[in-house]
Amino acid sequence: MNMPSSNNRVRYLWPIVFGLLFLGLAGWLFRIQVILHDKYESRALDQQTWEITVDAKRGSIKDVNGVVLARSASAYQVLMAPSQLDSEEERVELATFLSETLGLSYDSVYEKTTKKSQYIVIKRRIESAEADAVVKFVSENKKKYSDALWVSEDTKRYYPLGNLLSTVVGFVGTDNQGLEGLEYYYEQYLKGTPGKITAIRTASGSSLPFETESYQDAVDGYDLYLTVDVQMQYILEKYISNARVEHNVQSRIGGVIMNVKTGAILAMSSKPDYDLNAPFAINDEMTLKQLLKEYKDVASPEYIKAYNAQQVEYRKNKIISELYDPGSTFKIFTAAMALEENLVSLTEKFYCRNSINMGAITYHCASGRSHKEETFRDAMANSCNVAFVQIAERIGVSRFYDYFTLFGFRSKTGVGLPGEAASIFFDKETMSVWNLYSASFGQTFQITPIQLIAGVSAIANGGVYMQPYILDRVVDQNGNVILQNEAEAVRQIISKESCDTLNDFLEYTVVKGKRGYLEGYRICGKTGTSQKVDSSSAGYGNKVVASFVCFAPADDPEIAILVLVDEPNTEIQFGSYIAAPLGRDIMGECLEYLNIEPDYEGDSSSRSVTVPGVVGTSADQAAAAMEELGLIVKIIGDGEKIARQLPVEKTVLCEGNTVLLYTDSKDNENLNTTVTVPYLIGKPAAECNSLLQQAGLNIKVVGENLNYATTVAVKQSVAAGTQVEKGTLITVHFEEKKQ
Ligand SMILES: [Zn+2]
Repeated sequence: MNMPSSNNRVRYLWPIVFGLLFLGLAGWLFRIQVILHDKYESRALDQQTWEITVDAKRGSIKDVNGVVLARSASAYQVLMAPSQLDSEEERVELATFLSETLGLSYDSVYEKTTKKSQYIVIKRRIESAEADAVVKFVSENKKKYSDALWVSEDTKRYYPLGNLLSTVVGFVGTDNQGLEGLEYYYEQYLKGTPGKITAIRTASGSSLPFETESYQDAVDGYDLYLTVDVQMQYILEKYISNARVEHNVQSRIGGVIMNVKTGAILAMSSKPDYDLNAPFAINDEMTLKQLLKEYKDVASPEYIKAYNAQQVEYRKNKIISELYDPGSTFKIFTAAMALEENLVSLTEKFYCRNSINMGAITYHCASGRSHKEETFRDAMANSCNVAFVQIAERIGVSRFYDYFTLFGFRSKTGVGLPGEAASIFFDKETMSVWNLYSASFGQTFQITPIQLIAGVSAIANGGVYMQPYILDRVVDQNGNVILQNEAEAVRQIISKESCDTLNDFLEYTVVKGKRGYLEGYRICGKTGTSQKVDSSSAGYGNKVVASFVCFAPADDPEIAILVLVDEPNTEIQFGSYIAAPLGRDIMGECLEYLNIEPDYEGDSSSRSVTVPGVVGTSADQAAAAMEELGLIVKIIGDGEKIARQLPVEKTVLCEGNTVLLYTDSKDNENLNTTVTVPYLIGKPAAECNSLLQQAGLNIKVVGENLNYATTVAVKQSVAAGTQVEKGTLITVHFEEKKQ
């Protein structure tokens, strides 16, 4: 950027001859004293002293290593004293010049020229090129405009990283006051203290109209250093942006990373978000495309209404301000209670017949299958509701409620961000056993994602709940530390021994679940799939939140990660299929960044899967064999045994691909199982994904930056129009088209 030299700046600040650093008021004083002397003479007695405010420079916001997320820099503003304009000709000339030079509407500028005012702001926060043009114009028309138009110093807020961490950082308003996020919450540190100049009119009427009575320097705002590490923030945002496309997410996707030993927030994001430099605009290409498709005309009231609703949504910090049913991720806490209270022995066997009748209500396992005989550890890995209802019965309402409170779910975390939502839970007095049973697997109550990750971090941290925090320190412009936040252990909730057992459960859960498993790293984790409450019927609807919470390394956990995929719109919506691989990928790259070495060399082919032959086996057995490998199963027909499978035995697929199993029912006898491969070239990933899904085909995606509208398919492994069997794997290569 081409900033003016200090000589130029003096030129802009011509009233500096009074020895005043100011915002245009000095010019006003000058005119009152010199030009309008007679008019104001009679009122001089009560107008002899003047106070002029000197703006303080707003502090910066930086990550833990000092990477700048928000800063203030010099800019300029154009001010006018319309009462100094003598003729209609001058008003028209000025309005024409200013509207053209500053990109304003002629009418609005003209209207300002007709005011009787001595001080009107024409435009704030302009760059030096525009300021130069105004100064040049005034100097060329000194006689006419030197008292009526001038340029003064101003400051402008810059956000060098654009969208990064935007729902956390927030932004400022026209007067540089924080409006959202950290900019709002830490206003007292950031804004600084304005200076003050008190001036008094000299009694002798000397050549200087004013003498400075007192001068109080402005104190610039303090800098905030966050606990967030921009590198980990990049990792989080990259993966959730891509997952949003891959799973055709209808609402938003969110993620948070926490240091389990200190409670420090390392990364936090909700996507789509927005560019901090243009907070009221949508810059997500997928959304813009969708809005245009739906409403056609960008000028229509319907489009504008939908656009505005969407951009308000995109500014929300999902991790802090939105409530959700945690679903099966909450089984971690139910298990913690049972272990701490010695209510279940590790050798005890539960038996699951898929459902259990508890008096008034029958509870089912989500998978739709029976888990049969299982230990406590198996029950966690199977995410067996039937076992957890029985475990909850032993815990009882009162103890459950008390632990719920101890894990922090009944109070806001106080992480240091605005708009933190309060959870919704039962009253202890009126909570029924049925409330308890459904609560044991994370349903019928609502918490925030930040509460969940703080609670899970306590388990990763040997049972000690750490106060979550995002502000590391506050530093003044001389480098003095004004405030330093330290890790704060709030309370020991359960013993280290109970945590160790639970960590083993959760590591086993990840290994058995396959899709959260990462070769070489020991990750503990649990998935969840919860139905969203339907706002129209107040009951549970068809929309789900798929989530995965994990921490690693298992033997000495460092970080915890929670990802939430809100309304995936793909055929299979289980957290284990959608959120677990996402959490796993983020964890892998974060551990690498933290120099936590894998225990052994990863096998790059580990995510390829060879389909076993299951024709002739029972539907239950066949499904279990496929799921064991990380494949998604669709059983077609209600026969006992599998008559046909697509793709056939020994085909190589990727984890998460779908296998169709046709049972020996009558309906399946004459089924046509070939389909036509659709044309994918030039289409974005989300569209390719849904086209292939509709055709009953599997996709393997190759490429990066899938959420860019400019990233499109350039190659497909099977040509469009070819007849293939359902379930065939089509490899699609994506590239970003440079425009
Ligand atoms: Zn079960």
